[in-house]
Amino acid sequence: MPIRYSAKTLFSKAAWHAYNTYRKGVHYHSQLSQITELLNSSRESIEAFQRVRLAKLLRHAYHTTPYYRELLKTESPDISQIPPLEKRNIRDDLEHLCSESFTREHRIKNATGGSTGAPLTFYQDRGYWNQRNLSVYYFDRWAGWDLGDPQLVIWGAQADLKADEHWKHRLNNFWRNQYWLDGFHLTEETMQEAYDRMDKYHPQTILSYPSSLYQFAKFIYEKGLTPKWRLKGIISSAEMLHPHYRDLAEAVFDTKVYNRYGGREVGLIAMECTEGRMHINCRDTYLEIDSPNPYTQPGEILITQLNNYVMPFIRYRIGDIGILSDEVCPCGNALPILEDLLGRTTATFRTRTGMLVHGGYFTQQFYDIGDVNQFQIIQETLKHCVLKLVVNERWTDTTRRYLVQSIQNVLGGDVVVTVEFVDEIPLSASGKRQFTISKVTTGSDD
Ligand SMILES: [Zn+2]
Repeated sequence: MPIRYSAKTLFSKAAWHAYNTYRKGVHYHSQLSQITELLNSSRESIEAFQRVRLAKLLRHAYHTTPYYRELLKTESPDISQIPPLEKRNIRDDLEHLCSESFTREHRIKNATGGSTGAPLTFYQDRGYWNQRNLSVYYFDRWAGWDLGDPQLVIWGAQADLKADEHWKHRLNNFWRNQYWLDGFHLTEETMQEAYDRMDKYHPQTILSYPSSLYQFAKFIYEKGLTPKWRLKGIISSAEMLHPHYRDLAEAVFDTKVYNRYGGREVGLIAMECTEGRMHINCRDTYLEIDSPNPYTQPGEILITQLNNYVMPFIRYRIGDIGILSDEVCPCGNALPILEDLLGRTTATFRTRTGMLVHGGYFTQQFYDIGDVNQFQIIQETLKHCVLKLVVNERWTDTTRRYLVQSIQNVLGGDVVVTVEFVDEIPLSASGKRQFTISKVTTGSDD
């Protein structure tokens, strides 16, 4: 590797260190070594740590949030008896879910457009974010990443970056040593440009949505290109990693794809190891399967987030389906295993000009929209889309105009968008969540 890239990596490692230490107040090296020691220890040690964190969170929730004071009745309830936290509870009772021991200034607002089709606004605190980042640093190392190493990121650019935010985004990419390919709007030109840049940039890992990764791998394969750079691994996150996505990416990039499972509401939930098993992040979460036997019968995944004190998520029904394994993984890590995950799927839409639009673009338009409970967007043809909505009493026609405009902005101003109001969006026959569907195939097999 040419020397200037090593210098860039060293610079980036120093910048990451400074960022964590001075901006976030986190002594990254010591904390990461503590986390590593814990998560590499025995199952008993990890579960003992988790029990203490869980009891502390339940006490906090009972004593400081109106919602849980009413629901729990005691500071040490049997967790399996607590009614799950539904998305509608968060929409209807957001204020009561917030802890009285924090002021409003401590609340960091976050939102999900909902790849699960249900837009949601919620709060997290600084402590949550610090721990969430540390966990990402720990688990992404499984895929060969480390702070400061060059990384190709294929991810959704924010919808409407203002001029100064574009500048910030580029500065962040520079010091983080990341090259960003907009996964929301892939074209042959942007993929070719990214490919050419990588020959000089030599990324060690790729972080990507699986569907965007698949499109990029397919582009490289169909063009008959052979990447000259050697990857240590690929991190796939934020939606279902279908086997054919994985197979093509592993063949084209000649490396392993690691599936990372998480959600904006609760952070990193599980990560795949070298043996291809998903290990549950018991340091940050307490994961349950809503099923009579979670080892034999799949059920809805319930997540208790152990670090977010400003707004406790207890038995949160995240919208994915899973099943546990009681096996011990041969990789040597003792964290329990999520055997199978039936998660969120996101479609790729096509425009008449040949641009590929990631379904995440559409779900992002629902961030912070309070008058839609659920949605589903279906691309029927290149000229026609159907937007199905479950709305609530806050619904206004302004939202309708905004959503139609957002769809036309990327698919074309003359695309007809039919808005249908429905009572519910049913699950597909397989039980999968599909809130973005494209019937425009043009020979593609995804
Ligand atoms: Zn393992």
